[in-house]
Amino acid sequence: MSETRERNEPAAELAGAAEAYDREDELAAKRAEFVLDDGTVYLDGNSLGALPRSVPDRVADVVAREWGRLRIRSWSESGWWQAPERIGDRIAPLVGAAPGQIVVGDSTSVNVLKAVVGALRVVRAGSGADDRRRDGGEVLVDAGTFPTDGYIAESAARMTGARVRAVPADEMADAVGPNTAVALVNHVDYRTGELRDVAEVTEALHRTGGRVVWDVCHSAGALPVELDATGADFAVGCTYKYLNGGPGSPAFLYVRRELQHRFDSPLPGWNSHSEPFAMSADYVPAEGAPRGRVGTPDILSMLALEEALRVWDGVGIGAVRAKSLALSDFFLRCVRQYVPGAGGADGPVRSATPEEHARRGSQIALHCPDAADVTRELLDRGVVIDHRPPDTLRFGFTPLYTSFADVERAARTLGDVLRARRP
Ligand SMILES: *Cc1c(COP(=O)(O)O)cnc(C)c1O
Repeated sequence: MSETRERNEPAAELAGAAEAYDREDELAAKRAEFVLDDGTVYLDGNSLGALPRSVPDRVADVVAREWGRLRIRSWSESGWWQAPERIGDRIAPLVGAAPGQIVVGDSTSVNVLKAVVGALRVVRAGSGADDRRRDGGEVLVDAGTFPTDGYIAESAARMTGARVRAVPADEMADAVGPNTAVALVNHVDYRTGELRDVAEVTEALHRTGGRVVWDVCHSAGALPVELDATGADFAVGCTYKYLNGGPGSPAFLYVRRELQHRFDSPLPGWNSHSEPFAMSADYVPAEGAPRGRVGTPDILSMLALEEALRVWDGVGIGAVRAKSLALSDFFLRCVRQYVPGAGGADGPVRSATPEEHARRGSQIALHCPDAADVTRELLDRGVVIDHRPPDTLRFGFTPLYTSFADVERAARTLGDVLRARRP
């Protein structure tokens, strides 16, 4: 009895706090622009963003009218041909980029190849005869990187005679040496949710003539990304996570304006030609962002993404960041109350995400025994999260649609699940 009371008091207090936060939330109205069900808490937007309500009608129109009736005319009349750069410019303000530097298309994996090889070639073209990076050099990759980045960097190095060196992300800036040509850095660690000081790595590389490639998959749409201001050379990012573009929606590539004319793409498809319809046997690269294109864009996915980006109209990324931090702070507070043994540095359930706001992305990762089973049991109780091996539960907070009530329920349900497993 007394045990039940101890549990109920914080529950009432935290539920009340959640209600108050939701009332004061200036982004609260955005939630209605997404398709969500009331019975479910969706905290997996860091893997697949929810569907914005206006997308199905737009996709139906693209299929039935633009493709069905206008057919080939849509490449010009419906603006299909310019979609990769137009949508790139729509993403640009969300990642701190001036217009004309981002092109949308292909997957993140493919864009990692373009960026890493592109960066290596820029460094080589600018290096003197006694610079060992001229035909060798190293590519630094953070040791805990999302696997595809590491695989692709390895292949990019083999293609160019460079070699890959894996270093822990927080040692990256110190690891930069005279032979470092390129560093490929994840802005936010997909597993732990740790936010990295990419500006520091960028400065270290620029001091020694190297170039940086940022992977902003877990920061684009979740927090301010200052590509122009911090001197990023290349960046790649995903649009189906915090940008809600839909399953497999095309990724984006940023090439800093000063480097665009030196960008020598490893995938110089006809769409990146200066005059694609001249059908010339000789390759002449386009100027500007279109140089990052490859082949015919995937119009259906691309225009679904474009429509999805309309939810950002009138939204400042600063407000998104403030809410994201408030959500994750509140989640940690709830976890400390509801989860048996949580909160300590070495209890069974520990946060892998830094406490400091300056080092936190938009998710909280909890080390938890039997993470796969716990994830399934949460799902059975209407709380959708995911887990990553070996033992990490990921709770993703998408400020445009995650409410404080969602967060309170997720933590409370986690407590219930863990108590049921170990009565
Ligand atoms: C999600 C993610 C990817 C995904 O790559 P795809 O080519 O879209 O499958 C790549 N890198 C990072 C860091 C990611 O978080």
